[in-house]
Amino acid sequence: MLPVAAAQGPLRGLAQAGPRVVVIGAGAFGGWTALELRRRGARVTLIDAWGPGNSRASSGGETRVIRATYGTRTIYTRMAIRAMELWRAHDARWQRGFFRPTGALWMFGADASFGRASAAALRAANMPIEELTTSEAARRFSQIAFDDSIKYVLWEPVAGYLLARRACEHVVERFVAEGGEYRQAAVPIPFDVPSKLRSVALEHGGSIEADVFVFACGPWLGKLFPDAIGTRVMPTRQEVYYFGTPRGDSRFNDPAMPVWVDYRDRVIYGISGNANRGFKVADDTPGPAFDPTSGTRDATAAGVAAARAFLALRFPALAGAPLLGSEVCQYEASPDSHFIIDRHPHAANVWIAGGGSGHGYKMGPALGELLASCVLGTAAPDPQFALARLAARPPRLTNPCGSAEPAFR
Ligand SMILES: Cc1cc2nc3c(=O)[nH]c(=O)nc-3n(C[C@H](O)[C@H](O)[C@H](O)COP(=O)(O)OP(=O)(O)OC[C@H]3O[C@@H](n4cnc5c(N)ncnc54)[C@H](O)[C@@H]3O)c2cc1C
Repeated sequence: MLPVAAAQGPLRGLAQAGPRVVVIGAGAFGGWTALELRRRGARVTLIDAWGPGNSRASSGGETRVIRATYGTRTIYTRMAIRAMELWRAHDARWQRGFFRPTGALWMFGADASFGRASAAALRAANMPIEELTTSEAARRFSQIAFDDSIKYVLWEPVAGYLLARRACEHVVERFVAEGGEYRQAAVPIPFDVPSKLRSVALEHGGSIEADVFVFACGPWLGKLFPDAIGTRVMPTRQEVYYFGTPRGDSRFNDPAMPVWVDYRDRVIYGISGNANRGFKVADDTPGPAFDPTSGTRDATAAGVAAARAFLALRFPALAGAPLLGSEVCQYEASPDSHFIIDRHPHAANVWIAGGGSGHGYKMGPALGELLASCVLGTAAPDPQFALARLAARPPRLTNPCGSAEPAFR
């Protein structure tokens, strides 16, 4: 296991002279950033309008997939590998089992270019990855119907899922235990940024002064910063369904059943045990534009019917499974699905962190390291995360949801 500052215990005798930092947003991006900044000696206040992992937040789902398969986007392969190390190190210390290492099964149709590129990238990074024939896969996973539409199968053993909203809460608890300050409070939307920001005013009164500010407000970033971000972070409506498995049947729970991704004309994926909430099924196709504050979060009949039809095809034993629950969440999609980590164009002491685009949760601990280094001036973000690349590539407004590529591309 790599050395991890986190594993060294709460910092003692921290000098009270570190920079004052306010982090706005306690989701995957902001929570881990606040924790890492605190560990590096900053005096950090973290605020969130509704609380870490709340039901409006993109990080507020029950579970999220963690995988390092990223096709040719090797910047995320590397980041995911680092994130996995950090999740494991924190789990070893916290003993909360947030990272469930089930492995991930990838089932591709005729176009397996993403799978083949991912396999090459993982091998180059010395990560295990296996190509299975469909008959091998069918022997290993008899709960799955491998029909003729599946042409290429990958088994990614070092992958799994994360207990998403619970880990967000715990990160903030640890942040406070290690000397950070957390407040439930909101900054006004839109947020005016002068050339040097000295304090953030809070919506219900008061303000917080700081030297540096990090806005990690997920799907709200566009409304907060209509000029700097605007529609370049587009919240899209995503439905997730939880189906009931037969009584006492362990075939659809981990460890028998891994995370799975059916990657054909659409990308449908799921999380087996899903913290005992039910067999999770979701379509990765970006949905219509969505308001994360006031959008209704009921599943649509059409969405449920499509999920049932998929189950009947791929998991025949679950064809008549009852729907136990659903979630409506939102991707906070950038036009190219790359993250946004950059200074605000008007103020050098204001950082914007977001654009998770349906794949940001797993990266939390690695993003925390990166953002803490950026804020403290010891590193600069990769140009692929820069706001400037979005100016060169405006949002694709021909797409009805204004968004980008699915998260698994
Ligand atoms: C259905 C679904 C499935 C996904 N699956 C995966 C997956 O399998 N793997 C993966 O890695 N990623 C996945 N993602 C993406 C991932 O969940 C997100 O990219 C990530 O959680 C974004 O985190 P964030 O911190 O940027 O945003 P958020 O979690 O939304 O956090 C932003 C926070 O800012 C707060 N806030 C907003 N405005 C204000 C304000 N004015 N004042 C104060 N606080 C404010 C909010 O309350 C919120 O808590 C999925 C997303 C969805 C919706």
